[in-house]
Amino acid sequence: MLKGKTALVTGSTSGIGLGIAKALAAQGANIVLNGFGDVDGPMAEVTALGAKVSYHGADMSKPLEIEAMIQHARTTFGSLDILVNNAGIQHVARIENFPVERWDAIIAINMSSAFHATRLVLPFMLEKNWGRIINVASVHGLVASAEKSAYVAAKHGVIGLTKVTALENATTGVTCNAICPGWVLTPLVQKQVDAKAAALKISNSDATKLLLGEKEPSLQFTTPEELGALAVFFCSPAGNNVRGVAWNMDGGWTAQ
Ligand code: NAD
Repeated sequence: MLKGKTALVTGSTSGIGLGIAKALAAQGANIVLNGFGDVDGPMAEVTALGAKVSYHGADMSKPLEIEAMIQHARTTFGSLDILVNNAGIQHVARIENFPVERWDAIIAINMSSAFHATRLVLPFMLEKNWGRIINVASVHGLVASAEKSAYVAAKHGVIGLTKVTALENATTGVTCNAICPGWVLTPLVQKQVDAKAAALKISNSDATKLLLGEKEPSLQFTTPEELGALAVFFCSPAGNNVRGVAWNMDGGWTAQ
């Protein structure tokens, strides 16, 4: 379905981003991976699906590096049709104890990076009158949790940006939508499980049950594969008139 299209997925060396990159690759898209840590493993996983893959290590807190990555995607594959703004980090602390440097980093990586990548890809997408911008927000773009001020502020901002991007391009072939996962068991969440286990002196599996039980009525994690399938839907012809939605996949978290 996506043969000949190129997708750039930020923060795709791990977790949800890698899941979405693999789902788009399985549909035939060329993939540009981005993120830190091991690169060879994710490159091999995406290549195994038959996709052409490239990697750019832009730090998503740096607008000039984002610009260089988008240039890299276009020169490598000749176009850039799908942008998935996914890179993100977390820090948990009460507001009065929240390190200013962590606040700035979360706002830059989780929110401003989506603005920069979007403003830079829109001219190419509008020229071809086709494009898909998918912002990986969170249930925390819709509701809040204590001790996540920067994350919740950034994710609410991403959903606002999603709506404006959708509206400004509503009469074109460029759509923009957000995905709002509940808990997904990735390194980002594993750290929160580990912290809970240590703080309460309980086992990892008890901490996992507690974490799910507090927020997610299904008591199940959403998977990167399920989120990848939703991204594929947004890219399909059936998604042509889906514009500006914040689609939660959260086991009932926000239905409560
Ligand atoms: P993860 O830690 O597994 O992956 C994060 C990715 O972002 C990695 O590839 C990492 O290298 C990359 N990254 C971090 N800082 C970066 C930077 N400065 N520049 C470039 N890349 C950077 O986390 P994840 O859980 O897969 O999270 C992915 C997205 O999904 C995030 O935006 C997160 O907020 C969102 N999300 C996650 C959950 C969850 O439960 N895991 C729930 C809702 C939303």
